[in-house]
Amino acid sequence: MKKITVIGAGTMGNGIAHVFAINGFDVMLFDIDEKALAKSIINIEKNINRQISKELLTADAGRSSLERIQLVTNLEQAVISADIVIEAATENESLKLKIFSSLSTLVSKETILATNTSSISIGKIASVTKHPENVIGMHFMNPVPVMKLVEIISGYKTSEKTIAVITQLSKKLGKTPVACNDYPGFVANRILMPMINEAIESLQNGVAGVSEIDSIMKLGMGHPMGPLQLADFIGLDVCLSILNVMHQGYGKQKYSPNPVLINLVTSGDLGVKSGKGFYDYSNGIKNPPVAYKA
Ligand code: NAD
Repeated sequence: MKKITVIGAGTMGNGIAHVFAINGFDVMLFDIDEKALAKSIINIEKNINRQISKELLTADAGRSSLERIQLVTNLEQAVISADIVIEAATENESLKLKIFSSLSTLVSKETILATNTSSISIGKIASVTKHPENVIGMHFMNPVPVMKLVEIISGYKTSEKTIAVITQLSKKLGKTPVACNDYPGFVANRILMPMINEAIESLQNGVAGVSEIDSIMKLGMGHPMGPLQLADFIGLDVCLSILNVMHQGYGKQKYSPNPVLINLVTSGDLGVKSGKGFYDYSNGIKNPPVAYKA
């Protein structure tokens, strides 16, 4: 297995492409947005250079890794010879169903179709494809080049062969695959998102400010990042979509997204990727929190 296609060149897609490329795979990175592709290759190069400066990668290996990544805006061209397709497009169910239904008509009956979804049903995504046995969740963590975990989610129809291939592949990338079942939010986000939502509610209730909430959780719980900074890092739109999927899927109030999160997303403040969320990133680095508006 040598040829990988990544669908979506946002926060996760560029990290996934990066990790496959440095491990010797040929990568087709597809996005409908040319600007996203242009931004992603700049980001990958920056991250590869960081690995070179830390002596995690030689300069030669870094250069050849970059050469192995091809940017494409034509879906057919992107997937025609792929052994595995990993979808990392926007967290939106109808969009993913559309993508998988198109993919299914373009790839061979052996091609594995993996999704990096954070919360959406693997079974539902598989149901729009011709070979649901080839569909699986391969949930990388952010930032992909750094984080070891890959949550491997099988749908009801995912075959043992598909699970075995994706498990092996994750190990080949130097990751640690951990299996779980197909329920909204799986394990990682089912536990993480209520914490982020609760941090936002604590802010809304005036329990403490943004920096104080983050400091308490960092210093008190040993987390590398506080929950509000983490939400900015993940993308507030992604957090909102995940909470909506879990709220709808379990029908429980505890997953209902806090209105402050909804307001921020509605106003286009999505965190790091838009330059503003709970903190300000307008000059590319994390600045003090943005004044919180009730
Ligand atoms: P993002 O918003 O940064 O990027 C999404 C990309 O998908 C954009 O570049 C957009 O142009 C592209 N896109 C939209 N429609 C498309 C289409 N039809 N075909 C191809 N590309 C299309 O999102 P992200 O944070 O990278 O999230 C991608 C996926 O990874 C989501 O399913 C998300 O839940 C999951 N995920 C995100 C994180 C995180 O921390 N952000 C972590 C794990 C998993």
